[in-house]
Amino acid sequence: MARTALLPVLFSAVCSIALIAQEHSPQQAQSPVTLRYLGTAGWEISNGGLTILVDPYVSRINGPPPPSGAGSPITGDTRPKIGWDDIATSDTNAVDAHISRADYVLVTHTHYDHVLDVPQIALKKHASVIGTESTVNVMRAYGVPEAQLITVRGGEDYEFHSFSVKVISSLHSPLDHKHYFSSETTPANLKAPLTLRQIHPEGGTLAYLVRIGGQRILVFGGMNYIEQELVGLRPDVALVGAAGSRKEIYDYTARLMRVLGNPPLVIPTHWDNFLIPYGASQQAAIDAVQEFVREVQSVSRSTSVIVPKYFEAITLKAPQ
Ligand SMILES: [Zn+2]
Repeated sequence: MARTALLPVLFSAVCSIALIAQEHSPQQAQSPVTLRYLGTAGWEISNGGLTILVDPYVSRINGPPPPSGAGSPITGDTRPKIGWDDIATSDTNAVDAHISRADYVLVTHTHYDHVLDVPQIALKKHASVIGTESTVNVMRAYGVPEAQLITVRGGEDYEFHSFSVKVISSLHSPLDHKHYFSSETTPANLKAPLTLRQIHPEGGTLAYLVRIGGQRILVFGGMNYIEQELVGLRPDVALVGAAGSRKEIYDYTARLMRVLGNPPLVIPTHWDNFLIPYGASQQAAIDAVQEFVREVQSVSRSTSVIVPKYFEAITLKAPQ
């Protein structure tokens, strides 16, 4: 992220202006809400002039694969391989090409496929970042101003006037056939540039219920959840982790649909192979995710399921 190293100085001066700019008029609550899939666990949720990103990861580096997780390298990939001890470099061109606006960025956990691009986005777009202490410490290392950082732990339910967000304690995907566990948190007082390893201490995992434009949108960042934390949420849309590691969880899809009261719309997330570029074929992942679609439909006949295409707008129906 060497190219972004000078940005903290520039942006700290305009930070207070940016926060004022994030106040929005009540009319925006009536605009249709649009979702766009950024790949991996990344989403853009927008409503007129307000844009909320979740785990935006558009660099799609040729990085280390997760243990039995949602990605595997392909043969013939000519991009440089990035290892754990290499500098974590957010792709400026990719961010410029795919992120037009961001007022808030919600981060589910501090893994590179969720957080790598967030410092650059926060600095360029003056976005406020909501995440764990681990995530916020990564932001601090890159000089994101304190006024843009909101540290949460799960249980908060914050009102932002043009939207609100309930922070939900959650669990990381059961990687490595349930042997994955991390209690690591990014320490305070790091200074960029950081290595990939340094931006990867999980720091706990959160989910978010975003209430915007009359819609309740529940967003997960991976393939697990705490059932008790979801009781009574009743989302209109659920973005559900759908990669293969969900099969390590007991009755994953049916329990989730039941506790959420069979949401009208389910959209799978974190189901694509994030180790390959946007243009590469995702056919294997598209084929695999059909099983998740069938799981949802078999337990919740009233639920529509949309397998999202990268960057294609999904406009939500106005609430009844
Ligand atoms: Zn991930």
